[in-house]
Amino acid sequence: MVSHTSDVLIIGGGIIGCSTAYYCARAGLSVTLLEAEIIAAGASGAAAGMLASQVEAHQPDELFEFSLAARAVHAQLAETLRSEIGVDVEYRVPGVLRLALEDREAVDLRGRQKWQETRGLRAEWLDAPQVAEVEPLLKGAASWRLAGALHLPDEAQVRSPRLVRALAEAASKRGARVLEGTPVTEVVATGDRIEQVNTAVGSFAAGTVVLSAGAWSGRLASMLGLYLPVQPIKGQIVALDGLLALPQHILWSGECYLTPKSDGQIIVGSTEEHSGFDRRPTLSALLQLATGATDISARFGSLPVAQMWAGLRPALPDRYPAMGRAPGFKNLIVATGHFRNGVLLGPLTGQLMTEILCDQSPSWDLTPFQLERLAPPAHASQHR
Ligand SMILES: Cc1cc2nc3c(=O)[nH]c(=O)nc-3n(C[C@H](O)[C@H](O)[C@H](O)COP(=O)(O)OP(=O)(O)OC[C@H]3O[C@@H](n4cnc5c(N)ncnc54)[C@H](O)[C@@H]3O)c2cc1C
Repeated sequence: MVSHTSDVLIIGGGIIGCSTAYYCARAGLSVTLLEAEIIAAGASGAAAGMLASQVEAHQPDELFEFSLAARAVHAQLAETLRSEIGVDVEYRVPGVLRLALEDREAVDLRGRQKWQETRGLRAEWLDAPQVAEVEPLLKGAASWRLAGALHLPDEAQVRSPRLVRALAEAASKRGARVLEGTPVTEVVATGDRIEQVNTAVGSFAAGTVVLSAGAWSGRLASMLGLYLPVQPIKGQIVALDGLLALPQHILWSGECYLTPKSDGQIIVGSTEEHSGFDRRPTLSALLQLATGATDISARFGSLPVAQMWAGLRPALPDRYPAMGRAPGFKNLIVATGHFRNGVLLGPLTGQLMTEILCDQSPSWDLTPFQLERLAPPAHASQHR
């Protein structure tokens, strides 16, 4: 028997679920959020927190345009959260130095600089001596092999777990019910409607259900016969302590990135592995990250490891997220598959899902991210 009802029931307390809860609560909807473990227990708690639209973009496609719009949301959101609940989510704009450690990479990065400049974005090429000027930490360090760097001054960052928890807290303050330690065990549909969502502590019903359970979303979708091929892609990260002068920028080579954080740590990430749902850090990842970091500067090799952890990125086959109404259901929205950029894309995703939940047409064209594009393989049994 259903014991709780609300306008919106959100499954998953990562950046996507918590952003959606926050904007829905702001829009005056009644919200319940169910999180299996604790808020930010998944990929969102593991993320480095970079808001980097430009550094990994290879072409100006729809996802790139979406990510630029998403990056622009964060500054205002950080301010709003500070005034609503007094939390600093560590929004900063250090910019990225995408280092070219080989001439071949420099050619590729200069190509990227060209199309991004044509698009009206700030992207400048620095030769090796200029790199050392803007980033004194690299003086002499990598200069023997540094071919230059692409400087992207508008790339930003937050402290991801802080942002996610702040969104949950701000949503709660506006009346959302956020239930941790409440895994969804069953999603029950009758025809084209989700009737109820079951957990060990009771059953929930809602006007609309939002499935935002990250890498675990596919398992829940399959209970409904909905094809959602989300795969977990493991990423491992190391936090280093002990550097007196932190890098001024996020440093990024072809092998790893180093992000300086306000508490003096440097976060070095990250691997990309297909190893199922295992979230334990491994020795080989530590070796890989250590090699990447010391290739940038040998001095990183002597820094103490403060912590190491791993998370599972939710990835769809085309690496685009899936956002919008689920085909075949009147009251189900899916928001997942944000892969390497969920922290960046999360708040805008939450805003757009809220618009749909308020029966408005979304203010961004979500056609490229519709679920309909995910055709099941011919042999897969599908109920809808
Ligand atoms: C190492 C690493 C570094 C990253 N760095 C960045 C970065 O710098 N910038 C960036 O933008 N992105 C980054 N990402 C990607 C980003 O973390 C993800 O895209 C994003 O966190 C996905 O958010 P989500 O809310 O979809 O999933 P998650 O954060 O995984 O949240 C899903 C939640 O659902 C819960 N859940 C699962 N099953 C159930 C259930 N049955 N019932 C209830 N709850 C359930 C889980 O416990 C989890 O808390 C990184 C990822 C990793 C792993």
